[in-house]
Amino acid sequence: MVSCSHSKCGENGVINVTNPYCKSHFIKYFESKVAATIKKYKLIGKNDKIIVACSGGKDSTTVLYLLNKWFGNVTALAIDEGIPSYRNLTLEDLRSFCNRNKIPLKTVSYKEAFGFSLHEALKKVTVLPCNICGTLRRYLLNSAAKGFTKIATGHNLDDEAQSIMMNFFKGNLELAARLGPLTGIVKYAKFVPRVKPLYFCYEKEIAAYAFLQNFGVRFAECPHSRVSFRAAVRDFLNDLEQQLPGTKKNIVNNFLKLLPQLKKKYAAVADIKYCSSCGEPSSNELCKACIYVNSLKEPAPIAAAAVAIAKF
Ligand code: SF4
Repeated sequence: MVSCSHSKCGENGVINVTNPYCKSHFIKYFESKVAATIKKYKLIGKNDKIIVACSGGKDSTTVLYLLNKWFGNVTALAIDEGIPSYRNLTLEDLRSFCNRNKIPLKTVSYKEAFGFSLHEALKKVTVLPCNICGTLRRYLLNSAAKGFTKIATGHNLDDEAQSIMMNFFKGNLELAARLGPLTGIVKYAKFVPRVKPLYFCYEKEIAAYAFLQNFGVRFAECPHSRVSFRAAVRDFLNDLEQQLPGTKKNIVNNFLKLLPQLKKKYAAVADIKYCSSCGEPSSNELCKACIYVNSLKEPAPIAAAAVAIAKF
C-alpha cells in the first residue's frame, strides 16, 4: 500500500477508493465530505427533528452515528419486514449500537402494521420481493416518522446512480425528478421530507468507514436483493465503473445539472392526492400499499394487485 495522500502525513494508506489515506485522514476526508453535502444542499437545519431510517447495515448506521455526533437528539427508526436469518440479525446489531450510543430506537414491523410479514406475503405473491417490500417499507417509514421534520436515509452514490439509470431505462422521468440529496418535487403536508447525507459517498468508502469505526455491523445483503431490477443495474454499473472509473460519479453529477429543470417541469403538473383508504400521499385513488395489503387479505390474492400496480 502506498503512503497516505495527505500532504503532511507519512503513514501507510489503509484504504484507497479514490486516493490512498491512513485511518485518521480517511475518517477526516469522509466526514468532511458528508458535512459538506449537508451544508451545500441545506439538508438539515438547527430546528429539525431528525429520524434516521435504519436497517442495521453499514450505510444507515454511519448516518445515524454522524447525525447523532453533529446534531444530537436523533431517533433511529427500524422497519422489521420479517426476513428470516437476515433482518432479525441486522436489527440485533442496530439495538446494540443504539444501546451503546444511547440513541432511542423505534421499531415497526410489517406483521404489526399489516398483519403479515414479508416472508408470509411472499408465499402468496407472484411479484418480485423488492416491489412489494419497497412499497410497504416507504409507506411505513412515512407513517412512523410523523412528528419529525426530516427522515435521513443511508442512500449512497452507488444507490443514486442505480436509481437514476433505473428510471431512465424505464422511461420514468417523473420518478427521476424525485431523486437528489433532498427528495421530492413539491412539499406534501403529510409527507416527511427525506435527506441523503451520504449522497456523494461511494459504497466502498462507507464500508471502510463503518469498519474503521468498529460499528459492529455485519456486511450482509438481503437474500431477496439478487432477484431485483436494481441488482441487474448495479452489476451493469459495477462492470462499467471497472472499465471506466468515475462512471457512477459522472452519472450523478450530470443528473444533478438536469434535476432543477426536471423538478420544475413536474412540480407544475404535480397533482397532490391522498389515498382514500389510509390518507397517505398517493398518485392514485388508492395508494400502492393499500392495494397490496387489501389483496393479501383476499383468498386468491395478488394477481389483481399486480394488474393494479402495473397501471401506476
Ligand atoms: Fe426489501 Fe428488497 Fe430491500 Fe430486501 S432488498 S429489504 S426485499 S426492498
